[in-house]
Amino acid sequence: MPGVLGTFDFDADSPLIPFQARAVALRAEIERHNHAYYVQDAPTVSDADYDCLMRALQDIESSYPELVTPDSPTQRVGAPPLGAFGSVVHAVPMLSLGNAFEALEVEAFDKRVTDTLRAADKLAPDARVEYFCELKLDGLAINLRYEQGRLVQAATRGDGQTGEDVTSNIRTIKSIPLRLSGNAAQMPSVLEVRGEVFMNLADFRRMNDAQRSRDEKIFVNPRNAAAGSLRQLDSRITAQRPLRFFAYGWGDVGDALLARHSDMLDWLAQLGLPVNRSQHVIARGAGELLAYYSQVGARRDKLPYDIDGVVYKVNDLAAQRVLGFVARAPRFAIAHKFPAQEAATTLLDIEVQVGRTGAITPVARLAPVFVGGVTVTNATLHNQDEINRKDVRIGDTVIVRRAGDVIPEVVGPVLDKRPAGATRFVMTNSCPVCGSAIERVEDEAIARCTGGLFCPAQRKQSILHAAARKALDIEGLGDKLVDQLVDRGRIHSLAELYGLTAQELAGYDRMGQKSAENLVVAIDRARQPTLGRLIFALGIRHVGETTARDLALRFESLENLMVANEDALLGVSDVGPVVAGSIARFFAEPHNIEIVRALQAQGVKPQPEVAARTTGLAGKTFVLTGTLPVWSREVAASQIVAAGGKVSGSVSRKTSYVVAGTEAGSKLTKAAELGVTIIDEDGLRVLLAEAGP
Ligand code: NAD
Repeated sequence: MPGVLGTFDFDADSPLIPFQARAVALRAEIERHNHAYYVQDAPTVSDADYDCLMRALQDIESSYPELVTPDSPTQRVGAPPLGAFGSVVHAVPMLSLGNAFEALEVEAFDKRVTDTLRAADKLAPDARVEYFCELKLDGLAINLRYEQGRLVQAATRGDGQTGEDVTSNIRTIKSIPLRLSGNAAQMPSVLEVRGEVFMNLADFRRMNDAQRSRDEKIFVNPRNAAAGSLRQLDSRITAQRPLRFFAYGWGDVGDALLARHSDMLDWLAQLGLPVNRSQHVIARGAGELLAYYSQVGARRDKLPYDIDGVVYKVNDLAAQRVLGFVARAPRFAIAHKFPAQEAATTLLDIEVQVGRTGAITPVARLAPVFVGGVTVTNATLHNQDEINRKDVRIGDTVIVRRAGDVIPEVVGPVLDKRPAGATRFVMTNSCPVCGSAIERVEDEAIARCTGGLFCPAQRKQSILHAAARKALDIEGLGDKLVDQLVDRGRIHSLAELYGLTAQELAGYDRMGQKSAENLVVAIDRARQPTLGRLIFALGIRHVGETTARDLALRFESLENLMVANEDALLGVSDVGPVVAGSIARFFAEPHNIEIVRALQAQGVKPQPEVAARTTGLAGKTFVLTGTLPVWSREVAASQIVAAGGKVSGSVSRKTSYVVAGTEAGSKLTKAAELGVTIIDEDGLRVLLAEAGP
């Protein structure tokens, strides 16, 4: 199926190829990808593409079991270890996990487990199975062997039977204890801890930037960066890489087995091993598993690291033993995968878009690709520096990432697939829309068209900005109509909008009589915006809706604002020299004064701005850091703002409270240094309750 993802070399669905030959070809291709992924840490297809190939092979093998071969990738784990490291034969094999992509597969898993345990008298007839739910971190599995409490060996999974000895590299990871904590007399003689070595997203980006500046290898994602860093022959290099570790299981533990998986993890935590406890949940039955999946899915893009799914494990260890294993995975656990956030596609072209302030943004035109739950055809490339930094060229196969609602991003090229004719993008020096010169101010990454409102693209964007809901709120004035009004030379500035008639508007494409009349009513209503909305609608650089409202409260009329000197402007909260300079420059431009006068001539009369209700949180500034137990940071921020407080991105002496969750970083340290009050989510809820409805 070359279908949506389109990057396979092999047409697995061709009816012409008999199943056996198809299985052989699929195996060869999967083995090639396994080598690139597990041995070279440099995959050439996305995980979603790989998973499709694997599913295709599994489907053939389950329909025709006689075609299964012992060396099929469906029967084996990973890839044989690289000869460069010493090899370690695992005392207990390190397996993979079965996968579920759909709710139905999770329900089928729960049914299989329930039926088996009931048949073995391990579950009461009306009881539901208890599962331990964990995140599936996207890193690489590692086995840590402790003898008498001391770390003596660390090995990768390899092919599941034999892994690579990476002990000296693992010793450089600070969160991995070299000695277990606790009383020497109570130390288990042997304890093998299994877990995931991974890299946080922020650390990964910083590391790649540093690699790039030294012209060294760039990794396509944190998983490959973690694997590549751990498999360095020189452990001094590993030591510089920001690797982390979470334990989620064990291998050889002698006779130290407790009753439940959760008890084992509690014990590992007591011994000083990092366990991702805040993300764990105990669930009963498939319904609760699916609820965990959707809760984690909702906060997935707020997590500091990449996860590719969640893992459900039967919690009772005796029940696990009853269920046992299939070839490459346990029967008592399953990974429930999330839709891929990354996919490979072709960069067809790079075009430039001109924004409201003339900013020229290169946009990647992509062969349609399904990623993060939607089909993506465009992604911003921000600016020329970004394109150079990522070294993406037209014609490249690129990895596209779409996490949550974040706009799609081109992560980088797949260099192994670069075609001979791939061309570099070079920013033009004249605006593609109006032909004016493009200027790039020193120290600014963004190139700008110097055409101002002469440039139709800027004119269109500035009218759309003025009509937006947070500005004049002119419902029914969409981009298609604005395109026509500007392209036909009917509208040159905002003020001319007020002269449009229903009769005239009805003559434009896609405009009926009724919608034209509604639009004229909406335009008429926009003759009396609040002063703040009008100031925001003018589109002064750096003046957002909040600053516009603060300016309206302070100056009370457009006339006063137009003549305000720098000192007066600086007296407004959040207005610094950059914003003040921008306001002064705006009103120094004769054509902007003309627009203001024309608006007045059209009967536009701003209404006084009314100060927001004062509440318990008015005047209080909050900084949010880390992952909160229940609320996402966005939800917490909107609650604070709704109660009259402010949310800021950085901690200073003026900060009233720092709200800290797990994995809070430098902001928490800074708050402690400055003596700022630190609260948790519960503390915030108390303040909000006190602030009243
Ligand atoms: P897997 O990664 O899907 O699942 C098993 C692994 O999950 C374990 O080995 C462990 O490392 C990890 N894991 C994370 N959290 C865990 C937890 N809480 N409990 C238990 N295990 C946890 O399986 P796999 O066999 O390692 O790899 C297969 C996957 O790797 C594919 O689905 C694909 O996404 C990717 N892959 C991609 C390519 C490629 O070319 N793009 C090639 C090979 C594999």
